[in-house]
Amino acid sequence: MKKIITILSITCISLSGFGATGFLSPDERNGKPGDDKKGTKTAAKREDTTCFVLSQPEPSPEMEETPDTCLITFPSHDLYTSWDVNSAHPYNFNESFKEDSVVITLVQPGDSAFVLPFKGNLTSLFGWRRYRPHYGTDIQLRTGEKVVSAFDGMVRLAKYYYGYGNCVIIRHSNGLETVYAHLSKILVESGQKVNAGSLIGLGGNTGHSYGSHLHFEMRYLGQALDTQDFIDYEKGTLKTNTFVLRKSDVDNKYNLRALHNRHKQDVGMGRYSKSSKAVNGTYVVRNGDNLWLIAKRNKTTVKNLCAKNRIKPNVKLRLGQKLKI
Ligand SMILES: [Zn+2]
Repeated sequence: MKKIITILSITCISLSGFGATGFLSPDERNGKPGDDKKGTKTAAKREDTTCFVLSQPEPSPEMEETPDTCLITFPSHDLYTSWDVNSAHPYNFNESFKEDSVVITLVQPGDSAFVLPFKGNLTSLFGWRRYRPHYGTDIQLRTGEKVVSAFDGMVRLAKYYYGYGNCVIIRHSNGLETVYAHLSKILVESGQKVNAGSLIGLGGNTGHSYGSHLHFEMRYLGQALDTQDFIDYEKGTLKTNTFVLRKSDVDNKYNLRALHNRHKQDVGMGRYSKSSKAVNGTYVVRNGDNLWLIAKRNKTTVKNLCAKNRIKPNVKLRLGQKLKI
C-alpha cells in the first residue's frame, strides 16, 4: 500500500546554499508593524521550525517516504528559528528574550567594516513622536540616491510594506536586523547575501513618508533599538563594536509604547499630553518636535515663534531647549 506523506514539522539542520524560493512561513501578520501610524504589534509566537523547505511537492498517492526537499539555514538561525519573507516583525521580544542581557558584537572577525547606509542630515530620531512611536532614525536624502547595507547579512524581506513603503530588511549573523524604508526602488531580493556597503536600493518617499528620506532601524528579536546608541552619524562610524543589550534597557529606554503609557500614568495624563503645551509662556522642546508642530499646538505661528525667540525657521531644535510662546 502506498503512503501519503503529510509534512507537519521538520527538525533537521543542513546548509546547502541560498536563493530560497519558498518557505514554511505561516502567515501571522497581525497588525501592521511597518506602519508608524499604527505602531508595532507583535505576532503570536510562531511554530518552532528549525529549517526551511525550498521545494515542497504536493502530496500525491505516488509519493514515497522522502519528499524532495532542500534545506537551508539563515543568519542567526538559532536565535530566531524562523525566516519570514512577508512579515516585517513577526517576533515577540519579551517572549523570546529570556536572558537579563546579551552581548552583541556589531562587526565580527572576518566581516566587512560597517558602512553608513546613507550619509545625510538626521531629520527625526528614535523616540515618541507626537502620538506614535518612531522606531527608526530618519536620514535626509534625495530620491534616487544610493542606500547601502550597514553590515554583512542576508536580505529577509524586500517588498512594499505598509507604512515602510518599499522596504528592505536584512538579517545579520549577530542577531540584529536592519530596516531600510521609504525606498523608491528595491535592488535586492529575499535570500540574497549582501556585504556592508552593498547597494540595496534607492532612496525615496514611499509609504508613510513626507519628503524623501531613509528611515533606518536596528532591531533585535523584533525590538527596535536606538541606532544612535551604536552609530556616530557625524563620523559615519560605529561608537562601539561590542554592545550589551540589557532587558532593563529595553524596559527603560527602547520599549516606546510601554514607556509612553507609563509616563502618562505617572503624570495622570490623558491622550493629549499637557507637556505639548507651553507652561507660563515657556515651551520645552521634546523629541520629535519641530517649529510647525509647536506653533500649531500652542495656537501661534512659526513666524511669531521665530520673532519671539530670535531664531530662524530652519533652526535645529535641541531637546530640552526652552522657547517663548
Ligand atoms: Zn522614520
